[in-house]
Amino acid sequence: MPESNNHKCFNEVTMEFEPVIGLEVHAQLKTKTKIFCGCSTEFGAPPNSNTCPVCLGMPGVLPVLNKTAAEYAVRMALATGCTINNKSRFARKNYFYPDLPKGYQISQYELPVAEHGHADIVLEDGTKKRIGITRIHMEEDAGKSSHDAIQPISRVDLNRAGTPLIEIVSEPDIRTPEEAGAYLKTIRAILRYLDICDGNMEEGSFRCDANVSVRPKGQKEFGTRTELKNINSFKFVEKAIQYEINRQQAVILDGGKIVQETRLWDSAKNKTFSMRGKEDAHDYRYFPDPDLPPLVFSAAFINEVKADLPELPDQKKARFIEEFGLPAYDADVLTSARETAEYFEICAKISGNAKLASNWIMGTLMRVLNDKNIEITESPVSAENLAKIIKLLDAGTINAKIAKSVFDEICENGGDPETIIKDKGLVQVSDTGAIEEAVDTVLKENPAEVEAYKAGKTKLISFFVGKIMKLMKGKANPAVVNQILEEKLK
Ligand code: ADP
Ligand code: MG
Ligand code: ZN
Repeated sequence: MPESNNHKCFNEVTMEFEPVIGLEVHAQLKTKTKIFCGCSTEFGAPPNSNTCPVCLGMPGVLPVLNKTAAEYAVRMALATGCTINNKSRFARKNYFYPDLPKGYQISQYELPVAEHGHADIVLEDGTKKRIGITRIHMEEDAGKSSHDAIQPISRVDLNRAGTPLIEIVSEPDIRTPEEAGAYLKTIRAILRYLDICDGNMEEGSFRCDANVSVRPKGQKEFGTRTELKNINSFKFVEKAIQYEINRQQAVILDGGKIVQETRLWDSAKNKTFSMRGKEDAHDYRYFPDPDLPPLVFSAAFINEVKADLPELPDQKKARFIEEFGLPAYDADVLTSARETAEYFEICAKISGNAKLASNWIMGTLMRVLNDKNIEITESPVSAENLAKIIKLLDAGTINAKIAKSVFDEICENGGDPETIIKDKGLVQVSDTGAIEEAVDTVLKENPAEVEAYKAGKTKLISFFVGKIMKLMKGKANPAVVNQILEEKLK
């Protein structure tokens, strides 16, 4: 059957099934050194240069836990309302991979760092939902294999081996691809607010495996799940899950059975394909790592970490609504990244007009950042300068059009708003005498339009405003222009 037909027939039956989704997120922790040795975690170093006998997995070496990694795990656990296990254990997860020289990965199994947390998500239409977090555990990353494009050669780089990760496992509470996307964005925002992970999906420091099953609507038991790996962008997460939902429904409707397996997402073909049968936990023959003592957190340590937590996205959002009177939508967008929230807050405080600041950031500024493909921290217009523009606009010293041209000028050539306005003589004209003169001139030059306006074609008002603005080189105060114009046209 051709692909397009396939999709059509899947969509017709979407209503009869309910998808069930659970996500496993691997977040690389931003520590300077690895989890069980002193090697650097720096990205992009020459292959195998950041290694030592411990992370190379030589026999007889002893791993020593990086305290900062444990602290970061506790930060995330506290930020997601988890219960922290005062005593947790590292376990060996046995499997063979060319980039895992020990033959096992140090992870946690029965006793993870933390359990029973949650993350609150907000969907595009404002719907809120709480997604359960089953557990957060610590583990080490494996190395990286790369396969030569021409020769039949594979290379192994162990620089990444031993990089600290936390795995955040969600409950199977997610029901749609959109919810999955919102959950990931929420988790990523929290990690970034906590400053413990850079959240870069493309570079692999924030990775997601999606577990997907479908069940007939109304059925209580979950269906058999497949696990999707290799999803390396936010855009693909939702696509991959939707594809998998459709595929599973079609298999079931066709009388087939879903096999528990690991599937890979191919972003070029927009498809998932089977990689291997899915292992069960017993396949890994987990056992407590005899080289590492139990990880014990004192109440004092946990309290110290707690006291040091920054304001989190949800708290910041609530404060923005309360303190600045922002609509929930604005507050949501502006707090999605810590840097954006900080930029906004400076802008709102200096300009004294939070809503105007919000509009400028969400509109004009974000468009420029998108076009230039840069982060807000690299913005060509600083928060202080945007605040000055907004303040002058708000005070009526400049109009919106001039404000935009000053903004554009700073984007291109830098500079300070006040200097640019002074040097270019851009101060708005609110002087009624000068504006009246321009209005008279324009009305005199366009008698036919004046006739038509008086006969009821009131839309012509913008024609007159345009002419007057042009005559005054865009510097007239539009409110004053409109007022005088309407009086004269009575
Ligand atoms: P594993 O490491 O074998 O993948 P985990 O228990 O660590 O197992 O993770 C399982 C993930 O799959 C969790 O996020 C869980 O919510 C999700 N999950 C479990 N059962 C189902 C199911 N039937 N359908 C969809 N997701 C599921
Ligand atoms: Mg899994
Ligand atoms: Zn090392």
